[in-house]
Amino acid sequence: MRLILLGAPGVGKGTQARAIAERYRIPHIATGDMLRTAVDACSEVGLEAEEYMVRGDLVPDALIIGCVRERLAKPDAANGFLLDGFPRTVPQAEALDILLVEIEQELDAVIAIDVEEEAIVRRLSGRLTCSDCGTVTSAAANSSGRCKRCSGTLSVREDDKPEATRQRLAVYKEKTAPLFGYYSDKGLLRKVDGNGTVEEIERRIESAL
Ligand code: AMP
Repeated sequence: MRLILLGAPGVGKGTQARAIAERYRIPHIATGDMLRTAVDACSEVGLEAEEYMVRGDLVPDALIIGCVRERLAKPDAANGFLLDGFPRTVPQAEALDILLVEIEQELDAVIAIDVEEEAIVRRLSGRLTCSDCGTVTSAAANSSGRCKRCSGTLSVREDDKPEATRQRLAVYKEKTAPLFGYYSDKGLLRKVDGNGTVEEIERRIESAL
C-alpha cells in the first residue's frame, strides 16, 4: 500500500497513521517527526527548519522534499509507505509525483481526514505530546504529566501554543487544502469524517481503503 494521509493539524492524523501503518505493515513516514528529530540532533536540516517550525510556518519545499527523497530511498519503503504530513503544498505534491515515477512506485490512495475548524482549535489547545515517543494525549485524559506508553515527559509542543496554532491553520487553508482538489482530479482522494472516537475513524478509513 502506498498512501498519503491528509488533514489539518489536530485532526488525529498521527494516531490514525500509526494504526494504518501497523495494519498494512508499512513504514509510517511523518515529516513533522523527522524534522523534530533533526532539530533535537542540531543537524543542518534541523537548524534550518527550527525557525519556521516554532512560528508555525512550513519549512521550505526544497528542504522537505530532500528529506522525503532520502527516506523513500530506504529499503523498508520499497514495498509501501504511509506519508503523514507530506505533501503539504502543491509544489511538494508535484515533486512527489516526479519522485514516484523515478522510483517506479504509484500511489494507491490519499486519505483526507475531515474535521471542522472549531473542533480542531479545541483539540489542539489541550494537546500534550510525549517528548520521547511522540504519543499524543490530552490534559483531560492524562493529568500525570507522564506518557502512559513509555513514561516520557508530556508537554505542550511549542507549535501547539495558541498563536502558532492559528498560524498553522491559516497556512493549512492556504497551502495544503488545495491538495484535496489535486488528488481528487487524479481519482485518489478518499474523504473520511474525522469526528468521533479513534476506533470509529479507524473503521471509516478501513472501509474507504
Ligand atoms: P506536523 O508534526 O506534521 O504538524 O509538523 C510540524 C511542523 O513541521 C510544521 O508546522 C512545519 O513547520 C514542519 N513540516 C512538517 N512537514 C512539512 C512539510 N511537508 N512541508 C513543510 N513543513 C513541514
